[in-house]
Amino acid sequence: MEVAFVTGAGSGIGRASARRLAERGVAVGLFDISRESAEAVAGEIESEGGQAIAVTGDVSKDDDVADAVAVTAERFGGVDLAAACAGIEVTGTVADLELDDWERVIAVNQTGVMLTARHVIPRMLERGSGAFVAIASDAGVLGAAGWTPYCATKHALIGIVRCLAMDFGPKGIRSNVVCPSFVDTPMTDRIFAGIEDERPNWEQRVPLRRFSSPEEVANVVNHLLSSEASYTNGHVYMVDGGETAGLE
Ligand code: NAD
Repeated sequence: MEVAFVTGAGSGIGRASARRLAERGVAVGLFDISRESAEAVAGEIESEGGQAIAVTGDVSKDDDVADAVAVTAERFGGVDLAAACAGIEVTGTVADLELDDWERVIAVNQTGVMLTARHVIPRMLERGSGAFVAIASDAGVLGAAGWTPYCATKHALIGIVRCLAMDFGPKGIRSNVVCPSFVDTPMTDRIFAGIEDERPNWEQRVPLRRFSSPEEVANVVNHLLSSEASYTNGHVYMVDGGETAGLE
């Protein structure tokens, strides 16, 4: 039985990824800062015949991630796969951002992915193989006006994952980074709260003329965390409806 550790598993892309992995028979450790959300997703997976354990913690805290990975490994016998989906949205330009907000988004989005890798990779090394995916963003490859803190963390994830691919590829562990554009999740609802009328304009900027569903991103996460992607390592996978393909 394969075992996956998924962060941000209580909502959106993390939830959909955990459910997709469980659907193919992977046992999943569901890590989220919200106990209620993680437990709800564990309930969904179990009611559909899958195996899951909910573990609560803050992805920016080394001990929380270490403990959650240990609990998952003890429950299911190891960890083979990981999807680092936990993230928060923080806006601002360098002229108006709050330093506390900057530090928090670096801690969650950037340090959190590093900590996830730091604790799952030794488990994968014990198994002799593994696969890791981080969720960055189109803001990982493009600038985003008014989004300096978020954008900085997502660019950093590409560097982290490329280093993981170099450092652990020789040991049988593949690492890749997925860059979605807008996905229909609670995060996107928060971003458009109060400016819902702007959403259709943003949808029209995507060549496919719509935002993606979390399941469409989860399908790519599942692919990269499967033997179907056995030669894919260090790849920056755009799941953006063609948004970064060119200008219209
Ligand atoms: P979401 O808000 O629906 O889900 C994020 C989950 O992460 C939540 O369950 C939340 O409780 C959890 N979380 C937040 N902070 C945490 C912490 N410190 N420790 C542990 N868990 C924490 O968001 P989403 O849209 O599913 O986003 C998932 C990832 O995808 C994020 O990294 C986000 O930046 C990225 N992303 C989202 C979009 C989008 O349009 N929604 C686009 C590109 C990239």
